[in-house]
Amino acid sequence: MTDEPLAPGLYIVATPIGNLEDITMRALRVLRSVDRIACEDTRQTRKLLDRYGIATPTISSHEHNEAERSGQLIKELKNGARIAVVSDAGTPGISDPGMVLAGAAIAAGIPVFPIPGASAVLAALVASGLGTERFSFVGFLPPKSGARRTALEELAETVAAPTTLVFYEAPHRIVETLADVEAVWGSGCRVVLGRELTKLHEEFLRGTVGTIREQLGGRESIRGEMVLLVDAQALSVRSVGGAGSLLEQLAELEKTEGLTEKDALKRIARDRGVSKSELWRELQRERSRTH
Ligand code: SAM
Repeated sequence: MTDEPLAPGLYIVATPIGNLEDITMRALRVLRSVDRIACEDTRQTRKLLDRYGIATPTISSHEHNEAERSGQLIKELKNGARIAVVSDAGTPGISDPGMVLAGAAIAAGIPVFPIPGASAVLAALVASGLGTERFSFVGFLPPKSGARRTALEELAETVAAPTTLVFYEAPHRIVETLADVEAVWGSGCRVVLGRELTKLHEEFLRGTVGTIREQLGGRESIRGEMVLLVDAQALSVRSVGGAGSLLEQLAELEKTEGLTEKDALKRIARDRGVSKSELWRELQRERSRTH
């Protein structure tokens, strides 16, 4: 470990997402050496600081005062201060405050240093068993069911190759969200739910969306922090011969083989290996885009 004094600037410091041992030596040195720590919630961060005997002064900087607070902190940074920013848990800026301050510091020409560490998205991804070559972090979906379904359908449309989608979700919404994932990708879609990661009751549920939804739905209560990962297949490229939109394929089959829309849909569903209802939803989405 170096004894060199810290350079002036803004330090984005990751803190544990549960297990307090998940903090790096560098993060502890930075938290101990900076002039001030800007916290999402000073009481929450104090628990971590006390555990490691760190007495650095703290200041609150959260969702509701980040814009205003950053003006004050930027002034101090311009005068050569060293300031750390932390959120309640994990990496600041990842579904958490921190980015307003980082953006303001960059705009003011102040150095910004990442101090990497825990984040629920990567912890869940690497232990999920799903693909890690290509993944997309979505964060929280809209809480209202209609908007959530639309957001998932849009994701299904834009995924160009098999991708692991990573969502943060609240326990009281998880069963509904799983039902929406099932409606969009079908009940055979593989999902993983990572719950209470790095904590005493850490749990991974792996399986098809249908089974995980039933398993959770059968529990008396669903609690804890959770990450949902979805093995998202590209619906739009699962077409016959890989070419053309669904509307084009329907028109082609109606014209060349005289099939009704219903029969043409049946044929395409069989060729693509997807359910008719899945294809029907895709048709509705294409129609709504072309109107
Ligand atoms: N900045 C944090 C990070 O880097 O992961 C995320 C903050 S966000 C406000 C909180 C959400 O992250 C939770 O609702 C949950 O979805 C996820 N999360 C945080 N800690 C977790 C844990 N220990 N296990 C599972 N999910 C967690």
